[in-house]
Amino acid sequence: MIVVMKPEHTEEDLRHLVSRVEKMGLRTHLSRGERRTIVGIIGERDLIREIPFTSFPGVEAAHPILQPYKLVSREFKEENTTIPIGAHVELGGRAIPIIAGPCAVEGREVLDEIADALHALGIPMLRGGAFKPRTSPYSFQGLGELALKFMSDVRSRTGMPVVTEVMDARDLLLVYKYADVLQIGTRNMQNFKLLTEVGQVDKPVILKRGMSATIKEFLMSAEYIVSHGNEKVILCERGIRTFETETRNTLDLSAVPLLKKLTHLPVIVDPSHALGRTDLIPAMACAAVAAGADGLMLEVHVRPHEALSDGSQSLTPEAMAQLLDRLEPVAQAVGRTILRTHRKGQDDAVRTAAGAS
Ligand code: PEP
Ligand code: MN
Repeated sequence: MIVVMKPEHTEEDLRHLVSRVEKMGLRTHLSRGERRTIVGIIGERDLIREIPFTSFPGVEAAHPILQPYKLVSREFKEENTTIPIGAHVELGGRAIPIIAGPCAVEGREVLDEIADALHALGIPMLRGGAFKPRTSPYSFQGLGELALKFMSDVRSRTGMPVVTEVMDARDLLLVYKYADVLQIGTRNMQNFKLLTEVGQVDKPVILKRGMSATIKEFLMSAEYIVSHGNEKVILCERGIRTFETETRNTLDLSAVPLLKKLTHLPVIVDPSHALGRTDLIPAMACAAVAAGADGLMLEVHVRPHEALSDGSQSLTPEAMAQLLDRLEPVAQAVGRTILRTHRKGQDDAVRTAAGAS
């Protein structure tokens, strides 16, 4: 249930409402918007129905939330949620940040090479796996804490906030210590224990869509995190399993405008894991921005042919530079910009150095 307070309500009205509701064993969630204060009431539907909300002092109206997900729904909060990350990035705002980097952190030197190339392009955030969810137990599993240290050193040197996956609730404290943003991978979208744990920390979470999850299931997983107290959730469409085999997955771009309609949370797109091949990435990255994505996640490697994982879908920094040129006019056509941490003059010098026109 959403209880909308009158503009002139007092703090005492709010306290009274919250304490009455919580005494009945229900949970409340306060949202102070620019225009209105809203109290979300969560719990047993029959119990909620018994409460005469509109006769409480300071209450204007009460509306049931029809969707099974409540706190993440647009019904609950009309305005877009924006999530600040580090000093220079905001996800969900007008400027679209790109999160780029290798699939896995393979060593200090190669990570530094990749990060420096991305930083020189003005890419605001670095990604890289320390704990890798590999289909085969014989494949490279990631460098663990060592990788986290390398990433946090890159952050100290360049100022780029770092994103990395947490695969298991037992690793959360360790990953939390080093990362700016925690990533939940597609294979863990319904690991409810892990969702509950990341719901109790104060760092932003990128929640990737399960490869066979419906939009409703995706939003219910986001609801797990938010209902445990962490409202900084970023949804990531990364392709779903279909009968098609030419691409690694099928990028469900309709998920972007659909999610933007159903939820106030920011939505980003990862064309790398969706396509599994580099040749289609520029077109689909542009399409994602045109569809309303609030950010992009892209795998980039300085020598994709030597990558220990996902080399076939990793762009080179040169290809990334060219993609940036293609993305900017698309972003402008939909009233946005691509967030760069550089001034124009520097960009041009860097692009020339990278060999791009
Ligand atoms: C990743 O981004 O490193 C990753 C493993 O992606 P996904 O969980 O979408 O497969
Ligand atoms: Mn990967």
